[in-house]
Amino acid sequence: MKSKYQKIKGTFDILPPDTRLWKEIENILHNISQQFSYEEIRTPSVESTNLFQQNVGYETDVSKEMFAWEDQSKQQIALKPEMTAPVVRAYIESGFFRSNPLCRLYYIDSFFRREKPQKGRQRQFNQFGIEAFGSSSVEQDVEVILMASTCLKALSINETILHINNIGSPDTRTKYEQLLTKYFLQNTKALSNLSQKRLHSNPIRILDSKEKEDQLIIQNAPTIKELLTNTEKTDFNVLLSNLDALNIKYEESPHLVRGLDYYNGTTFEITTKSDKSQNALCGGGRYDFLVEQMGGPPTPAIGFAAGMERMIIESNHEMQKNNIDVYISCNDLKNSTKCFSIMQHLIENDYKVFFDTNKKSVKNQMKDAIKRNVSFVLVVDKNMTIKNIKSHEEVVVSDFQQLLNFLKTQ
Ligand code: AMP
Repeated sequence: MKSKYQKIKGTFDILPPDTRLWKEIENILHNISQQFSYEEIRTPSVESTNLFQQNVGYETDVSKEMFAWEDQSKQQIALKPEMTAPVVRAYIESGFFRSNPLCRLYYIDSFFRREKPQKGRQRQFNQFGIEAFGSSSVEQDVEVILMASTCLKALSINETILHINNIGSPDTRTKYEQLLTKYFLQNTKALSNLSQKRLHSNPIRILDSKEKEDQLIIQNAPTIKELLTNTEKTDFNVLLSNLDALNIKYEESPHLVRGLDYYNGTTFEITTKSDKSQNALCGGGRYDFLVEQMGGPPTPAIGFAAGMERMIIESNHEMQKNNIDVYISCNDLKNSTKCFSIMQHLIENDYKVFFDTNKKSVKNQMKDAIKRNVSFVLVVDKNMTIKNIKSHEEVVVSDFQQLLNFLKTQ
C-alpha cells in the first residue's frame, strides 16, 4: 500500500531494531567522552542564518547550502548545518570561557544541509563531535586525535586511515593560497566546472574536490609543507611522534587543507579504506581564530565531527540481545487489573515485561512468547501460573512475592 505521506527527500527514518543499535552506539560515545572528561552540550536546532554565513562559509561556498528561511517576524533562521559555530556562540554568550579556561565539550545531534542527496550523503544526518577550547599546545591535538581513534576502536571500526596535515598559520595559508592560485591558473582548462568556480572564490577547496578530472592536477599541486615555519614543523613532528608512541597509524596528507579561513595548524580526516566517494568518517582540526572572530576573547580551539550514519554502517559492533523477561498472558478482561498490578511490580523490580493487550488465545500467546524469545510466561486467569520456557518448569503462585521468589531462583 502506498503511504499517503512520504518523508522529505534526503531524510531517513530510523526504525527498530536499528534504534536499539543507535542507542548502544550513542551510549559508547557518551561513555568515552565522559572518560576523557568532556561534558555534553546541547544547542537549539535553529540559529540565526548569519551565524553560519559569516563564520562557516555556508552559502559563500558553492557546495554547502542550508535550509534557511525568513520567519513570521522577518528573522533569518537556519536549521543548523554543523555544530562548531553554535558551540562557539554558546561558549561566548554564556560566559563559559570565564569559568572554564580549558573547556571540553561534546555533542551528538542532527544537522541539515541542502546538498544533493546521494548514497552516504543525506539532507538530515547525525554527528558525534567534540570541541576543546583554551589550549594551543600540540598535546591538545594529540588528545583530540586519541579520542577520535578510541571512539572508532570502541565501535569496532577497523579498516580506517587517519590522514593528517599541518596547515600552519593564517600567514602561511595566504602564501599557500597565492601559490595554489598560480598553479591552478596554469591548469584552468583541465579543471572540473566546480573547481573552476572555486578557483576565484576559494582555491584551497579545490584540493577537496572529488571530481575525476581534478585528481591528477591535485596530485601534482604544490604542498603547504615547504611554507611552514620551523616552529610549525617542530609541532607537527611532536604530534606525529606522539601518534607513533600511541600506535595510532596515520598517513601524512600534504593536500588535506580545510577551506575556511579560521582553520590553522593541525588538520585531519579519518576515512575508511574503501575508495567509495563518501568514505570520510570524521573530520577535524584547529580553529584558533574563530572564537575571536565571533566576538569572544582570543581562544585557541580544536575539534572534530564524525558522521553517525557512516560510523554505524562501518561498525562491527554486536548488538545486545533484546530479551523479554516475562510475557504476561491473559485473555479475560476481568483479570486485566491484576495483570497491570503485576506488571507494575515487575517493572519496579527491573524486569522487562511484555503484556499482550490483544487478548489472543493462551495458545497463540504462547507461540507469540516463543517468537519473542521470552524467558518466562505468566498466565493470569483465576490463578497465576509462571512457566520457564526453556526448562518447562511451571508453578502456580498466589501472590507477587511468590512470583518474585520463583523468578529469582531460576
Ligand atoms: P563535516 O562537518 O563536513 O566536516 O563532516 C564531518 C563528517 O560528517 C563527515 O566525515 C561525514 O562522516 C559526516 N557527514 C557530513 N555531511 C554529511 C551528509 N550530508 N550526510 C551524511 N553524513 C555526513
